[in-house]
Amino acid sequence: VYNYLPLAVRVLDKLEHLIDGAMKSVEPMGQKVSMPLLLGRESWDKTSRWQTTGEELFRLQDRHGSDYCLGPTHEEVVTELVAQNVFSYKDLPLCLYQVGRKYRDERRPRYGLMRSREFIMKDMYSFDTTEEGAARTYQSVRQAYHQFFTSLGLPFTEVKADTGNIGGNLSHEFQILAAVGEDDLLTCDNDKCGYAANVEAAVSSLSHAGEAGEYAYFEATDIEWLSGCVPEEGRPMPMVRVLVPQGRAVNPIKLLKEWAPTVDGQCMFRVSAMAPVDGTDRAVDTADTIIDVSLRKVVDIDEGVRVLDVATSAPGDRCNACETGVLVGSKGIEVGHIFYLGSKYSSTLGATFTDSNGRPAVAQMGCYGMGVSRIFAAAVEANHLGDNDDRIRWPESIAPYRVVVLTAGKQKNLREAATALADRLSQHPQLRGEVVLDDRWKDSPGMKMKEALLWGAPNMIVVGRQFVQDGTVEVERTLTGEKTYCTPDEALHLFDEE
Ligand code: ATP
Ligand code: MG
Repeated sequence: VYNYLPLAVRVLDKLEHLIDGAMKSVEPMGQKVSMPLLLGRESWDKTSRWQTTGEELFRLQDRHGSDYCLGPTHEEVVTELVAQNVFSYKDLPLCLYQVGRKYRDERRPRYGLMRSREFIMKDMYSFDTTEEGAARTYQSVRQAYHQFFTSLGLPFTEVKADTGNIGGNLSHEFQILAAVGEDDLLTCDNDKCGYAANVEAAVSSLSHAGEAGEYAYFEATDIEWLSGCVPEEGRPMPMVRVLVPQGRAVNPIKLLKEWAPTVDGQCMFRVSAMAPVDGTDRAVDTADTIIDVSLRKVVDIDEGVRVLDVATSAPGDRCNACETGVLVGSKGIEVGHIFYLGSKYSSTLGATFTDSNGRPAVAQMGCYGMGVSRIFAAAVEANHLGDNDDRIRWPESIAPYRVVVLTAGKQKNLREAATALADRLSQHPQLRGEVVLDDRWKDSPGMKMKEALLWGAPNMIVVGRQFVQDGTVEVERTLTGEKTYCTPDEALHLFDEE
């Protein structure tokens, strides 16, 4: 958990303002709300997420012993809100969003704001009358995300994503490309194809698969039973066994997605580890089935054999989408994640309405997250040049201040000129509130300039010896290092167009 100091708060406020603009551009327009952070257990029981979320959920009790959690995400809250307030198709479609704190007891919080246990997220939720409507809204949000990340000017890519604990079946992630990124991405090198996926969700044609001996057998070693798993008499508990091509790891996310927690009625369990099974005989036994099913993997349970793709895709694999390109690996920071949810939450939590024919219907939903404090960190990382680089290079639209004015020297005429210039600049229509005057007159100019670069001032104006000689100041565009010498009047006009 972190304190945000004044310069950081300015960056966060600017990000939030830009995000507000992006959410307004969505059709239907995003409307801002503020939901509680302290959440009662009841609705989390209804969706089973009180159980399935596991240790990531910060749980607490009130003085009466009732259970609460600190909100990690708000599907339950917003769906109940809509259930209580929306009754007619005339109230839909609806997009509600908020920007606020989220709490997750991350297994490995790291890289500061990149993955913290208290963080800031923008989360939006959409409610439509039909699946087609919800799909249209999804595409509209997707476009708004594209525009937002493009306007930030950071290198980003959109990838197909796993739908995780939130559920649903259509999902995209927005990833800022950076060497420190935790996410492995696979992108097709065929420009015409455009396939890009998080490795958690990626599929590929495994070119070397096909022969019996090339498969490795994995067995679940760590199954956590969550509920409802009373095996019928005489029937063994289901075992999880899979085959994947030799040299490949099992992708547990793909495995679980295909074959795991079903909320209604059936068993719920989580597999946390898969270990190779020694000996090849069993692998050979079942491999025929695999060849049959064109390189997809097999999950073999007591009722028989189901065919699933559960192998981890890797760079160098043939693209499954175009079948000509090859997948290339890169690292990304997940800064946005959008999901088509359908009726997963609305049916469970009663978000129903009366349609235009007077019949009851269930709202179709989407949810759309954006990691505000993570974007903050990613903006710093994406423009970082390596270990010896201690500067921040903010995109100008979110820099704490756009201009810093400082003096090289403590003489009265320099101080007065710098103060007057800073005042005039801050009245410039493009720069209102965007100019900071470094009035530590006695401190060394070198230190002040270095500090301005450390916090990432995009423009630095130095009033120094030159000013005494010919009345000019130095204007540096710190991102490019380009310097201009001009009079204070001319300096003002440099910002006219921006
Ligand atoms: P991750 O896989 O990185 O844990 P997630 O899939 O759990 O992310 P979502 O539930 O989709 O994340 O949350 C929406 C967004 O919130 C993410 O895209 C990410 O930008 C941000 N986010 C999630 N967890 C954190 C965290 N612990 N610290 C900072 N930002 C986070
Ligand atoms: Mg997470």
